[in-house]
Amino acid sequence: MNVITSPSRGAYRIVDHTYDVVVVGAGGAGLRAALGLGMAGLRAACVSKVFPTRSHTVAAQGGIGAALGNMGEDDWRWHMYDTVKGSDWLGDQDAIEYMCREAIPAVLELEHFGVPFSRTEDGRLYQRPFGGHQTHYGKAPAYRACAAADRTGHAILHTLYQQCLKHNVPFFVEYFALDLIMDDDGACRGVVAWCLEDGTIHRFRAALTILATGGYGRAWFSCTSAHTCTGDGNAMVLRAGLPIQDAEFVQFHPTGIYGAGCLITEGVRGEGGYLTNSEGERFMERYAPTAKDLASRDVVSRAMTIEIREGRGCGPHKDHVLLHLEHLGADLIHERLPGIAETAKIFAGVDVTREPIPVLPTVHYNMGGIPTNWRTEVITRGPDGDRIVPGLMAIGEAACVSVHGANRLGTNSLLDLVVFGRAAAQRAAELVKPGQSQPPLPPRAGERALDRLDRTRHASGGSTTGELRLAMQRTMQNHAAVFRNSASLAEGVEKMRGHWRSLEDLRVEDRSLIWNSDLVEALELENLMANAMVTMVSAEARHESRGAHAHEDYPERDDANWLKHTLAWCDETGTVRLDYRPVTLTPLTNEVQSFPPKARVY
Ligand code: FAD
Repeated sequence: MNVITSPSRGAYRIVDHTYDVVVVGAGGAGLRAALGLGMAGLRAACVSKVFPTRSHTVAAQGGIGAALGNMGEDDWRWHMYDTVKGSDWLGDQDAIEYMCREAIPAVLELEHFGVPFSRTEDGRLYQRPFGGHQTHYGKAPAYRACAAADRTGHAILHTLYQQCLKHNVPFFVEYFALDLIMDDDGACRGVVAWCLEDGTIHRFRAALTILATGGYGRAWFSCTSAHTCTGDGNAMVLRAGLPIQDAEFVQFHPTGIYGAGCLITEGVRGEGGYLTNSEGERFMERYAPTAKDLASRDVVSRAMTIEIREGRGCGPHKDHVLLHLEHLGADLIHERLPGIAETAKIFAGVDVTREPIPVLPTVHYNMGGIPTNWRTEVITRGPDGDRIVPGLMAIGEAACVSVHGANRLGTNSLLDLVVFGRAAAQRAAELVKPGQSQPPLPPRAGERALDRLDRTRHASGGSTTGELRLAMQRTMQNHAAVFRNSASLAEGVEKMRGHWRSLEDLRVEDRSLIWNSDLVEALELENLMANAMVTMVSAEARHESRGAHAHEDYPERDDANWLKHTLAWCDETGTVRLDYRPVTLTPLTNEVQSFPPKARVY
């Protein structure tokens, strides 16, 4: 063990490790990558701030999409078209083709790994409809979502973890990754992590680092995300001088439980559930005459918000709508939606076999993230165009491949995790030979991470993490909302600058390095702040409406000027620089045609 003295204050015990690959994150994406690496014979470590099966993926409910055609006609090309259309044409069609084609082997592989999927009478994988998924290029609902009742994420996560153990993947559990180790040539050489149990600092040297750290839903006040969804990997990338892509595209899920924010899966509407306003009207028929309650999420969330704004909301404050499933009958509910029945009872006090659930759109998913190509290699952009960042990959909700573009379809996140987790392992096996020698780390490797840890640990201002976080969350909730406009976004940017400055007033009470949740939350707040800042600035700059970015002053999609990805860099003063890169409209192979932009109606 080395002892390193931080230039500012004190000594840290440093433990050095060398692996072929280090995966940061043990959710669905990280575990699928780690498993693939283990199967390929690479020495891969998996670092996670929570126990793997407590990762946020455990909460995923409704299903994972794949055009298996078990319960009606289906084709991966229709799935691809739906995903491109769902993305409002901002998704890259090479990556979308790859995901939808590979969905079929990737899901069957999950079945073989042991995921206990729900079954049809004749023993095949059961599939349910989901919003925005249709057959024959938008003609009729597709039965495409494979599910383990309404606990699909739980089943997948546990199975992948067991498979990783079988393949002897070493886990570093409750290790909090602080920052990437970058060399002078701009290559990633590993990661620095803090062991929460004994306070030691660990430098993981690796030929490849794969970030699978999930989204940053906790930047908002009301979200369906776990407390751990703080965008740590995204913030590490920003601190390494690299950009985040399309951060302005944030998905509001239509059916968060009113007052609690917990999710009621779209699978409920897939099974026949529907929404009503205070007049008892099934209002989605007006907004999406064909798909109705199964239109894509941005469309349903906007419709609900309009109903509430126009005075047709329910309850004493007319501030929510109702989701009905009582007509489905107790038997179906208990067989296919048991978790929903339980959640609604606990968080809304509702017996779903008798009464509707009060619901409201709630922040659910970050379409933006760390930009990668379809092989999961991180890319950045310079004067000569796109460039691969050597040694760095990103997958899962942390990444922006981009398969979800401006709006993600339900069931496509779990799919993204397993398809691109698998792709990352395959690419790694091409790039790295097991045990290949690695140059020594740069002489000052990890020092910046330690300095930051030290600074935050000794922060002695007047505001607690909770106070600063709440102020930021309220700004995000009010200004980076379902509907946005120029004045509100400009105000949001100004407020975010104030929140950034307020970090100087942070106070951390507990200075210990052992089981110090006060310090963990302070570090997470810094990470959330970086994510929130690039989100607000990127949103303010995009003068059009596309997918989840509904701009009231620019209500139309503007392909002439805005069919492009936003790239946002954020320096340590919180100053954001923006640039843009083209969307890929060409598929990967000639097995499918390109889908040029057209009007998006459901
Ligand atoms: P996560 O599962 O969030 O895992 C992140 C990992 O990174 C964790 O292991 C964490 O410990 C680790 N980590 C983070 N920061 C650090 C750090 N600093 N140091 C070390 N480790 C770190 N999608 C679907 O497709 N179908 C569904 O039915 C569905 N249902 C959903 C239901 C709910 C309630 C919610 C909230 C989401 C749902 N989603 C669904 C979306 C989907 O669950 C998520 O997008 C997905 O699980 C994200 O997986 P991930 O592997 O990228 O990240």
